[in-house]
Amino acid sequence: TYQIELENINKYYGGYHALRDISLGIEPGEFVALVGPSGCGKSTLLRTIAGLEGISGGTLRIAGETVNDRAPRERDLAMVFQSYALYPHMTVRRNLTYSMRLKRRSKADMERSVEEIARITGLESLLDRYPRELSGGQRQRVAMGRAIIREPKAFLFDEPLSNLDAALRVHMRSEVRQLHNRLNATSVYVTHDQIEAMTMADRVVVMRAGVVEQMGAPLDLYDRP
Ligand code: ADP
Ligand code: ADP
Repeated sequence: TYQIELENINKYYGGYHALRDISLGIEPGEFVALVGPSGCGKSTLLRTIAGLEGISGGTLRIAGETVNDRAPRERDLAMVFQSYALYPHMTVRRNLTYSMRLKRRSKADMERSVEEIARITGLESLLDRYPRELSGGQRQRVAMGRAIIREPKAFLFDEPLSNLDAALRVHMRSEVRQLHNRLNATSVYVTHDQIEAMTMADRVVVMRAGVVEQMGAPLDLYDRP
């Protein structure tokens, strides 16, 4: 479990100043939600942590090491998106092991990992199904399983539940949070849904127009007029 530190992060898209001097420390094991109106820079911030987006200034540290110039695959983070990005022609099992195959892990080793991930994500009975044979929540669990199987240092979630219907969304909130706890992970979770942020996060960071406007524990923010 790892600390993520942002120090004076700035990001320009051409002349547009999308992230303005953002400083933020995320503690090992913490679950932080990033909220704010559309266009305020939530995704951009998440993508800079992932290394999918370069920064124009500032320092980004993961587990104490500066990663500004590291490629995404060298940052040991797992992203979970709202589009599940599963391979439709592969079973759940193959979807889970695909990235391990590329890493040339032994067959026995992969089997062990798949069983463990299936247990954690509740996919034991679904390993031989294809994505089209799964519900939205089950697909999202496969997507999370694929992220976990990489044994990442931290999770970056970009509105992972926004494609699900309301009831499932509420259920998956607690599933994601339980997963975070069980793995003792560090998580950054982008959502435009304030209730989601309040119910899931240890700390809520509110962004507006490229700056951090306020942050605090859900109840502290909630009590504020
Ligand atoms: P949010 O995730 O909070 O909705 P984004 O991080 O996606 O916001 O976008 C922040 C701002 O940066 C928006 O004004 C958006 O239009 C702009 N932006 C995002 N990506 C790009 C890009 N690739 N090129 C130019 N502007 C961008
Ligand atoms: P593919 O992207 O074709 O499925 P891999 O799963 O091996 O192949 O991913 C290739 C690279 O893409 C990885 O080394 C990693 O850097 C990045 N990547 C893939 N999935 C994720 C993820 N969930 N989170 C973060 N990075 C990922």
